[in-house]
Amino acid sequence: MNTLEQMTEFGHELVSFHQDPETGLRAIAAVHDSTLGPGFGGCRRWYYATESDALHDVLRLSEGMTYKNAIAGLPVGGGKSVILTQEPGAKATEAEARAMGRFIERLGGSYISAEDVGVTTRFVDWMATETKYVCGGVEVSAGGDPSPHTAQGVVNAMKAALAYTGRPSSFENVHVAIQGAGNVGRNIARIVTGLGARVTIADINADAVERVVEESGATAVGPDEILSVECDILSPCALGGVINARTIGELRCPILCPGANNLLEDYDADGRRLKEAGIVYVPDFVANAGGVIELAGFYVGLDESVRKQKITAIESTALELLRMSESEPNTYFAAVALAKKRIREAKEAAKAEATTSA
Ligand code: NAD
Repeated sequence: MNTLEQMTEFGHELVSFHQDPETGLRAIAAVHDSTLGPGFGGCRRWYYATESDALHDVLRLSEGMTYKNAIAGLPVGGGKSVILTQEPGAKATEAEARAMGRFIERLGGSYISAEDVGVTTRFVDWMATETKYVCGGVEVSAGGDPSPHTAQGVVNAMKAALAYTGRPSSFENVHVAIQGAGNVGRNIARIVTGLGARVTIADINADAVERVVEESGATAVGPDEILSVECDILSPCALGGVINARTIGELRCPILCPGANNLLEDYDADGRRLKEAGIVYVPDFVANAGGVIELAGFYVGLDESVRKQKITAIESTALELLRMSESEPNTYFAAVALAKKRIREAKEAAKAEATTSA
């Protein structure tokens, strides 16, 4: 499928490609739906084997942001950008980040950026020297690292799933297995062990694992073992697509509550497989909305207390969705249906307002 066909199929409004010969930057930005406001979503910096892999990623991620932002009740739409590095692990430079900032500036505010995998607060600040349409830095732009808020939101979603399955939502003696000891996984480990849970952790980066073992007393297992650890909650916090036809049979958890975006390789088929396997799945874009609530909320001027309240509300939203999904093919469907309902209502309200004022 070519780009326009994919945009039509998934409902994207805008996809913009950019290359900067001076710095070698190659990037794609996508806005999926701007009914509720400008497309808001982080910038991922990653090595993609092919351009179509990068396009697929930015399209899926920006669509997910539309649903995430709508369910979180934020006045922003769904957007995302990806930087295609020339090789795996390529070091980020200020020149590259500033070129990305200029690209975002040229989009004129239709897309607002922040951090995602491979992008740090420093990179955000470098981008912010060239554009005001970015947040999540600490010196030039504001908002800071969203991952502690993301982690808190995931933990709130875990509480809902624990209550839904009749387990103690206090986390006392609950066993949480986490794939990925990065910013989100590490913070989840810290929060749940503080509440009395026991954590098993895995990462392809041995230093990251060591840090979580030291900080949270977690047990380390190999990256190939983590998905099949017998536990109460499995929380994949690395990359997307790890739950699929091959891996679902390996899972030994009653609850799947991710920090990672686009967790299911195939939303429909894998969502149904999880339901058939009796695994309670909190959709990624519901569970991991804490970071965007903090940053987009900050960007549009919501008070800290309102942002906190919205992160707390992830628990009640997740519980509502888990109940709703009993009559739906799976929880992903239920969550998308709720997000689309909110977007439809906003469209209708805007139409009604236009008619009244005409
Ligand atoms: P990060 O880069 O800090 O951490 C990801 C970790 O996953 C790294 O330590 C990496 O080594 C590890 N990893 C990669 N492949 C792995 C594998 N096969 N097995 C085990 N570990 C592996 O990223 P992050 O900010 O913690 O984000 C993690 C996930 O959460 C991403 O999917 C991201 O899109 C999503 N997310 C993050 C935020 C946020 O606030 N940072 C918000 C929403 C969603």
